[in-house]
Amino acid sequence: MSTECLFCRIVEGTLPATVVHETETVLAFRDIDPKAPTHVLVIPKEHHADAAALASADPALAGEVLAVAGEVAKLDAVDASGYRLVFNTGADGQQTVFHAHCHVLGGRGMTWPPG
Ligand code: 5GP
Ligand code: ZN
Repeated sequence: MSTECLFCRIVEGTLPATVVHETETVLAFRDIDPKAPTHVLVIPKEHHADAAALASADPALAGEVLAVAGEVAKLDAVDASGYRLVFNTGADGQQTVFHAHCHVLGGRGMTWPPG
């Protein structure tokens, strides 16, 4: 675990975050700059640079991240209306934090294709 990584610092508890759900291996917390009424980030507690690296290193953990994303949608009551899961990856994908994270976006209609 690298203390240089923002999300590792949230896992360690040295950077505050509004946690909405937690398991032994996965943490879910509200995005600091929400793009929708529901905007939660679901991360593996273990550091992996992006979704592909996570899925390659530990497919079960990647599955746990997706399962928690579904739980978060239920907690925020957006499961019935629908929501979007996003893994931004690399420069063109607009990834800014290089610790794998799943955005859970909901509470409003989404557009397609995304910008
Ligand atoms: P990315 O652009 O890498 O897909 O998403 C990174 C997300 O992390 C952005 O939506 C950004 O608002 C969020 N973020 C950046 N720094 C912090 C922080 O310190 N705390 C929280 N809760 N979210 C953050
Ligand atoms: Zn990290």
